[in-house]
Amino acid sequence: AKWVYAFGAGSADGAQGDKNLLGGKGANLAEMARLGLPVPPGFTLTTEVCTAFYENDRAYPDTLAEQVEAGLKALEEKVGKTFGDPKNPLLVSVRSGARASMPGMMDTVLNLGLNDETAEGLAELSGDRRFALDSYRRFITMYSDVVLEVPHSTFEELLERFKEDRDYTLDTEISAEEWEELIVEYKAAVHNALGHPFPTDPRDQLWGAIGAVFSSWMNDRAITYRRMYDIPASWGTAVNVQAMVFGNMGNTSATGVAFTRDPSTGEKGYYGEFLINAQGEDVVAGIRTPQCLTKVMREKMGDSQPSMEEAMPAVYGQLVDVFDTLERHYRDMQDIEFTVEQGRLWMLQTRNGKRTARAALKIAVDMVEDKLISEEEAVMRVEPGALDQLLHPTIDESYERDVITKGLPASPGAASGKVVFDADEAEHMAKLGDKVILVRVETSPEDIHGMHAAQAIVTARGGMTSHAAVVARGMGRPCVSGAGEIKINLEAGTFTVRGRTIKQGEMITVDGSTGEVLAGEAKMIKPELTGDFASLMVWADRARRMKVRTNAETPADVQTAKEFGAEGIGLCRTEHMFFDADRIAAVREMILAEDQQGRVKALSKILPMQRDDFAEIFRIMEDRPCTIRLLDPPLHEFLPHTDEEVKAVAEATGLPGEALLERARSLAESNPMLGHRGCRLGITYPEIYEMQARAIFEAQTIVEKETGVKPVAEVMIPLVAVAKELEILKVRIEAVARQVESETGTAPVYLIGTMIELPRAALRANDIAKHAEFFSFGTNDLTQTTFGLSRDDAGRFLADYLEAQIFEKDPFVSLDQDGVGDLIRIAVGRGRSTRENLKLGICGEHGGDPASIRFCEEVGLDYVSCSPYRVPIARLAAAQSAL
Ligand code: PEP
Ligand code: MG
Repeated sequence: AKWVYAFGAGSADGAQGDKNLLGGKGANLAEMARLGLPVPPGFTLTTEVCTAFYENDRAYPDTLAEQVEAGLKALEEKVGKTFGDPKNPLLVSVRSGARASMPGMMDTVLNLGLNDETAEGLAELSGDRRFALDSYRRFITMYSDVVLEVPHSTFEELLERFKEDRDYTLDTEISAEEWEELIVEYKAAVHNALGHPFPTDPRDQLWGAIGAVFSSWMNDRAITYRRMYDIPASWGTAVNVQAMVFGNMGNTSATGVAFTRDPSTGEKGYYGEFLINAQGEDVVAGIRTPQCLTKVMREKMGDSQPSMEEAMPAVYGQLVDVFDTLERHYRDMQDIEFTVEQGRLWMLQTRNGKRTARAALKIAVDMVEDKLISEEEAVMRVEPGALDQLLHPTIDESYERDVITKGLPASPGAASGKVVFDADEAEHMAKLGDKVILVRVETSPEDIHGMHAAQAIVTARGGMTSHAAVVARGMGRPCVSGAGEIKINLEAGTFTVRGRTIKQGEMITVDGSTGEVLAGEAKMIKPELTGDFASLMVWADRARRMKVRTNAETPADVQTAKEFGAEGIGLCRTEHMFFDADRIAAVREMILAEDQQGRVKALSKILPMQRDDFAEIFRIMEDRPCTIRLLDPPLHEFLPHTDEEVKAVAEATGLPGEALLERARSLAESNPMLGHRGCRLGITYPEIYEMQARAIFEAQTIVEKETGVKPVAEVMIPLVAVAKELEILKVRIEAVARQVESETGTAPVYLIGTMIELPRAALRANDIAKHAEFFSFGTNDLTQTTFGLSRDDAGRFLADYLEAQIFEKDPFVSLDQDGVGDLIRIAVGRGRSTRENLKLGICGEHGGDPASIRFCEEVGLDYVSCSPYRVPIARLAAAQSAL
């Protein structure tokens, strides 16, 4: 087998496409050599060596040693130097390089091959003894640190003491003779720490470094990093051995890093730093302040040191040519390392540069304009989740954060406001023109008006699908949920976190993208939805198959979603409309009614209000389909809890308070989420669903008469477990539709379908599809019922499950594709076997999660539905899944 691949001097055994075999660094070095760029020659030990090493009890393949020898020999010929030759020594760098960049691993050893004799040779050859000894002491430090595990600090301390004794402040004050003295001390320190001397044979040094790279693949940091980013251990790392070039050979030498575009804004223009007379690690180590690459950058930063463009114009010119070659070749923004040795440019690395969401968007769109990439490629270049950063105001990076506490990043964006603890108070203060942040232990449907009035919401309890999180995402309000350190004292009007007290009315800032709660008012940056963003969205829409709808019920949210490109409503939760101040009394009256007659009377008060709500939605959505779900939550959720509320309701209904409480008590259930809710209410109280159906159909006829556009309703029955439930309810709803038609002379356009939220419904989808014209997967409840895991309480111990890796991700955030996903697959297959044109969608929170959206594409759903602010993310994710 071939274990070693050579590169350099205009050719290479490997190429860009060999990343799996040569690692990212090795493949790109080979590619740059092929492009004729100035790459110091070298060779790469493949990732297969690493895999073989671990498969064979940390032993190398038999033929590796001879292949490395042959590689060295060829390298010596290319550069005209010999490894270990005291007169004309070849020195090399040894670097790790996996397929994906991995910060947890051994990185680099420079100047390998130096010992007392070769250091003299290097001094002679370069005519600069100080340079040779400086390189030697760097080698001992670095090799000891990364290969021998003698910490860097050992040498730092010796150096510091050495300088103190002589009143030096800078390393540059140390003479060649003094470095020589220090090197003796360094070697003694290593001998002392290890019990054996520092290796002097260059071949021993080389195998030591190679062994250290392969071993670092299994160190704790690397293992943790792989786990975090889903990198399989089987990939292995490659090792790159490359002839040294020296950036520390005097003032015509330098080393630097550069981006071909600005990685934070995406602006065209080179961006980077360099250091004269230095080696690679000096830039990163931050010992000296690097100089700017370009004049523009220097002027912008007001830097007094000359830029590379000014200090080394000729080499800078070459470097710019290389940038252009690389960008044109790789068709992406590059992140580059280079060295200048006595006026000569050398390329040490190139890779696609990491960037912010803003930069990713700008670079992708600019590159399409420059005809470097296609529209489809641009769509693939932007991570959908990262759009979140662009859709909401965010905290200015330069702002200094005073973090009070941290919870879950439940709804993205940032906002500042005064602390309030009560929904009514929030609404009241907002009306007076204050910006407020609602801080609560948890929220319930009764707090909706306060949440709407608030700039952001913080809760001490609850997970990513808690009421607060779901509603806040829907409204586009930033939210931090489950900030467990917060202790609220309502009487005192304060909350406390680890001894720190914040009073009602004090200004705080919520960062829903990180989960942080900050003291004070932060500096913000506004989102930009036109320009590049709009262009990318047009291309995404061209590429995708699935439709994207929204979960929304208030006219404001529906309007926002439409502006974000929603193609319909996938879930209108009608119960959210029951809490508004003008109707909660009638709703309560309906619930408390003794008999059907009483209920019908109360419902007749609610009907016109619901009809207006629906009409408003149809007006905004025009002919886009609107899925309206009939009442879902258990009735006791609507009943008064506090004495004050009880009193108010008693007055309104004329019922004695005691009877009221008695009724509320009788409605209480020990397991309400598995209780009298969803279609079960419709079965017991047909008049409720009939009223809602009538409100929908009448609203349709009103809007049609008014606008001439035919609204499209999809009436959705929640929590169906058995086909018969749907069969019964469908007959009743159809009867209402016929009545409305005969009364108004207009036939409403509608479908009747169901949510799939229970495992039984998924399994019996073939029966259910007999009566359903569409299915919408309610994956919040389906996850809850499949796992038997309460969506409202799981937050309390979910962290333990993630920690123990029982769950890879929160199943309420990213769909459990194995378990819940299997039920969806089954339901899709069985449902379509009964009804070929069954319309299929998803309306759980997963409808806005890119990984879950990919799954929806794979199983062939017709649409996904998500909260308004996630609509653009879903459009992009759906496009990427289709490409
Ligand atoms: C669901 O269960 O996934 C759903 C969308 O309904 P809700 O969140 O209102 O229970
Ligand atoms: Mg549900």
